[in-house]
Formats: sequence, structure tokens, C-alpha cells
Amino acid sequence: MKNSYKAYALQCLVCDRQYQPHEVSYFCPHCKGEGALDVLYDYPTLKREWPRAALAHQQARGMWRYDRLMPLSSTQYVPPLLVGNTPLYAPANLLGEGSAIKVLIKDESRQPTGSLKDRASALAVAHALQSGARTVAVASTGNAASALAGMSASMGLHNVIYLPRTAPREKRAQMLGYGAEIVLVDGQYDEAFEQCLAGCQAHGWYNRTTGINSYMSEGKKTVAFEICEQLHWQVPDLIFVPVGNGCILGSVYKGLFDLLQLGWIDRMPRLIGVQAEHSNFMYRAWRSDRSMARTARIAPTSLASSINVALPRDRLKAMRAVTASNGEFMCVSDQDIVTAASRLASRTGVFAEAGAASAFAGLIKYAQAHPDTAQTAVVLITGSGLKDTSIFLSGSAGGPPGALAGQLPAPLNTAPSQGISA
Ligand SMILES: *Cc1c(COP(=O)(O)O)cnc(C)c1O
Ligand SMILES: [Zn+2]
Repeated sequence: MKNSYKAYALQCLVCDRQYQPHEVSYFCPHCKGEGALDVLYDYPTLKREWPRAALAHQQARGMWRYDRLMPLSSTQYVPPLLVGNTPLYAPANLLGEGSAIKVLIKDESRQPTGSLKDRASALAVAHALQSGARTVAVASTGNAASALAGMSASMGLHNVIYLPRTAPREKRAQMLGYGAEIVLVDGQYDEAFEQCLAGCQAHGWYNRTTGINSYMSEGKKTVAFEICEQLHWQVPDLIFVPVGNGCILGSVYKGLFDLLQLGWIDRMPRLIGVQAEHSNFMYRAWRSDRSMARTARIAPTSLASSINVALPRDRLKAMRAVTASNGEFMCVSDQDIVTAASRLASRTGVFAEAGAASAFAGLIKYAQAHPDTAQTAVVLITGSGLKDTSIFLSGSAGGPPGALAGQLPAPLNTAPSQGISA
């Protein structure tokens, strides 16, 4: 493969200082733990040298087809598993006859380890190996760790995973199968986060943890590239994104930002961050006039474990995504999430875990509040229902099946252009 990776700089979200990649490891040295970094490319040069049409000749697979917007110096350590290239479906009447909203489902449940986190973990593994790391650690509610463990297994890299004891057993089974070392943490994600940080500081491990490792947004942003390409660069009006740490939301914004810089798209869609009622820091911070620093952390108790977070670690990027796109944050109840997951599964065949279904629950609520909007809304289905089957077995799920029997979701465009399929 021709090496087409580009030079990049890192810029602090808080103070705007810029750094070369070798000058910083995780945060802005000036702002310390508060200083999350953006990865910025030489957009004017890219714009001249890399027309959109060149994608048709791209040989790289999945998310790596956008390699010029990736912060790697070579393709040498890219894991062989096919990450990305997930379908965008256009199911009819998913919101009922009354709604004028056109729904598109981006199905990330089909990733190699079953969640969107594969996009970040694939980049983490490549980046860690390129930096000479032998061990990669992560704190995770489950999916980031299964993704890291799977990607690492494909490259023979060792992992240490800090996982809340309450994480779904399906995710733990995956990590064990992939051969990762698991440290079970008594407490929630926030405790796992602190323990992982301490472990990395003590042992010099590469830290993949969201909100510490600024590169993770660069992997996850490729989902926005794919959505735009699958829509032939006609951006949707709305994108619904589930929010735990806020990394995915911030990354979707970053992907769209990159495309705007290159002139590949001409406007920013409104980004809608959906949180669980019992894990809603971003929503509360956005609604009030208080700064995020003065917003209370409340012990999270949502059944949607992958978005159950007291203090979102990518809160700066998540807040920017919503404010800069003129979007909004909203909240849904656990019951809304369970109902949405079963409606999605029974009417489209897309089987989402609770965290992912929350984005669809957000769209249902949005459609009820805006009955007359004729807009196009993409819903990010971030992970597979097989990763936490409890909501489907608990008895509270299961709506009227076949409400739209016979209406198979029409694949919008599973092979958007030559070369995206493996
Ligand atoms: C991690 C995750 C989320 C939330 O992403 P954040 O970046 O933490 O906001 C949502 N859904 C699924 C399935 C996830 O694994
Ligand atoms: Zn700074």
C-alpha cells in the first residue's frame, strides 16, 4: 500500500496552543488533564492534492480508505480485521405513518467485535505499536475493552483492562476469549478510569482510555466520513448519537469538521446527543448556565451500561459538537430505551444494545415533539444487542411484533462506491 499518511499537529481545545506529535503524549502540557487535544491536518494542501473523486481508487479497506485524515506515519501496524464499511439502512415507516422524518440507520453492530469502538481501538493498536508499546491498557464500560482486546489479539499485543465488576458478562466473555488480562473494579466506570490511569503511570503502559487518548476521536470520526460518502456527500439534517463519555459525539463532529475543511460537504448537520436520564451530566450542563466545572456529578444508574458515566471524559469535545452544530442534548428514560431497542429489532432486524438504542429512543422522542418536520435523521446504532442480552430477556421488552411486517429495510447503499467494500 502506498504510504499516503500526512503530517498533523495537535491543538489544545482550551488554550489553542499547537504541538508537534512528538512534543505531547496525552494532554496539553500547559492545561494538564483539562487540555484535550484536536488532531489537525494540513487542510489547504490536502484540499489541493486529494479530491473527493480519488476515493474511488482507494485500495485500503474499511475505515483506512480515509487514510490521509489519519494520524499515523505508516500502514505497517494496522490490524487486519475489517473495521468500518458498515451499512446505512433506510427503513420505511419506522416512526409510524404520521412522521415526515426520513430515518437512516448506521449499523455499527456489524463491526468485528460488535461496536463502533472498533474504529478507535484499531487506531489505538496501530498507534501503540508504532510508538513501540508492548502493553495497552484501557478503562471501559465494556465495548472499548472488547474492541481493544479483539484488535490486539489480531496483532499479538498484550492488554490490561479495567472493568467495572457489573459490566455485562457477554463483553467480559469476549475479552477473555481474546486473551486480555482483566482487572475487575468494584465500582463504576469512573473508578475504573482512575485505576487505569494509575496503572499506566506506574508501568508505562500505553493508555487507550477515552478522554485521555486524544487520538481515539480520529478513529471514531470515520463513521461520519462513511455516512457522508454513503449519502453521496449530501449531509443529513440531524444525527442522533448516544452519549456516555461524549467521545463518539465529539468524533462525529470532528469528522464533519474535517470534511468541511476539504470542501467535501457544504454544511454541518445538527448533532443531537442522547443521554440516559440517570446518566445525564452533559444534558444538565447544557441546559443550565453553569459551567461544566460547576455541574454536579451524580452516581449514574442507567441500565444502559455503555453510557453510564458520572463525569463524561470527553465533555469538552461533546459540548463543542452540540453548540457548534446548533444541535441539542436530550434525555431518555430506561423504559424509553428498552422500548426503542425492541421496536428497532422487531421492525428492522437491527439488534442494538441498550446504549445504542438510546439514540433511537431520542429520535422517537424528537419526532413526537416535532410532528411536522420533514428532515433526514441518521441514527447511530453504536453496538450489538448480543453484547448485553438482559434487556431483551427481562420481560419488559418485546412490543407488538411485525407492526410493519413485509417492510424490509431497504439497504440504502451498502457499496457506496467502488472500493469501500472489502
Ligand atoms: C461507548 C458506547 C457509547 C457511548 O460512547 P461515548 O463515546 O462514551 O459517549 C454508546 N453506545 C455504545 C454501544 C458504546 O459502546
Ligand atoms: Zn492547553
